[in-house]
Amino acid sequence: MSEQQQGKLVILSGPAGSGKSTVVRQLLDKYPGRLELSVSATTRKPRSGEVDGVAYHFLTVDQFLQKREAGEFLESFEVFGLGNWYGTLQSEVENRIQNGISVLLEIDVEGAMQVVEQYPQAVTIFLDPGSLEVLEQRLRGRKTETESVIQRRLEVAHEEMEMAPRYKYQVINNKLEHAVEQICQIISNDPGEIVR
Ligand code: 5GP
Repeated sequence: MSEQQQGKLVILSGPAGSGKSTVVRQLLDKYPGRLELSVSATTRKPRSGEVDGVAYHFLTVDQFLQKREAGEFLESFEVFGLGNWYGTLQSEVENRIQNGISVLLEIDVEGAMQVVEQYPQAVTIFLDPGSLEVLEQRLRGRKTETESVIQRRLEVAHEEMEMAPRYKYQVINNKLEHAVEQICQIISNDPGEIVR
């Protein structure tokens, strides 16, 4: 990533189980102080080990909707049709970008498209899990979700993978190191200047 005055806005999407979280951790390690993760807000319940303010800002539905009314979100969306809201707070993004720090958003496809309307130069990357079979194995391996949630997530994953062509870049996560390397090159090479 070259030095520049404004940070880049990098959006990484991909179905749950595509390996996004691991890729994100590795990217953040590669660019300390220069690429930071936007901590999303959500109304879903924390999974075990998830810390408020680190994994997400965990909010009640009322709190979330109040912030939404107040225009505090860059984008917000009810994901999975199970009543869970997710959203990117403006406060996670704008100051950093103005101060030359790039911001990584790990958000769903609908949210990504909302952000692109406001930040057309965002560097959008879709992480493809390779195959739905691999995805199913990863989701089951987590052992954190009920069968009906897994089934619903697989359906959503299928729908999401059809949206991949709407991203500037598509990266297949067959091998973690390769995927991370490819994404680093994309982040470095895309001018990503924010034109508002
Ligand atoms: P999980 O519940 O597994 O943490 O996340 C579920 C989905 O919500 C993932 O696809 C993730 O990318 C998406 N997501 C997380 N944060 C946000 C956000 O701020 N906005 C939107 N639109 N989606 C998000």
